Amino acid sequence: MTTYDPDNIFARILRDEIPSDRVYEDPEFIAFRDITPSAPTHVVLIPRGQPPTGPAALEDSDAPLIGRMILTAKQIATQLDLDEAGYRLVFNNGPDAGQTVFHIHLHILGGKQLGPVA
Ligand code: AMP
Repeated sequence: MTTYDPDNIFARILRDEIPSDRVYEDPEFIAFRDITPSAPTHVVLIPRGQPPTGPAALEDSDAPLIGRMILTAKQIATQLDLDEAGYRLVFNNGPDAGQTVFHIHLHILGGKQLGPVA
């Protein structure tokens, strides 16, 4: 199991050690534009603090956190005017999914007709 690295990129963004283009903040989450966007709108939503490293690290007790992440992503999608045309929510886990940052995060993608999931 990957252990949480307190110096991972998203932890550093949370501490404002690395700049980010934030589109949303609340006491539990922040969301910012992905530095290498895969779609015209590509936002990454992350919990504050030291959350699980990714989906594989989740425990039953994290169910409310994940529920709130998805509901918050829905709210951000509406804020960014993606709700009418549609959008995609993605959690990556591990090497085959291309996970590069081990601080759980939810990608919000939209702004064009997206291709197949993989
Ligand atoms: P994943 O591949 O699921 O681990 O997603 C990590 C995402 O973080 C990738 O899409 C990266 O482009 C994005 N990313 C990495 N560094 C930054 C940064 N400094 N600001 C914004 N997004 C970043």
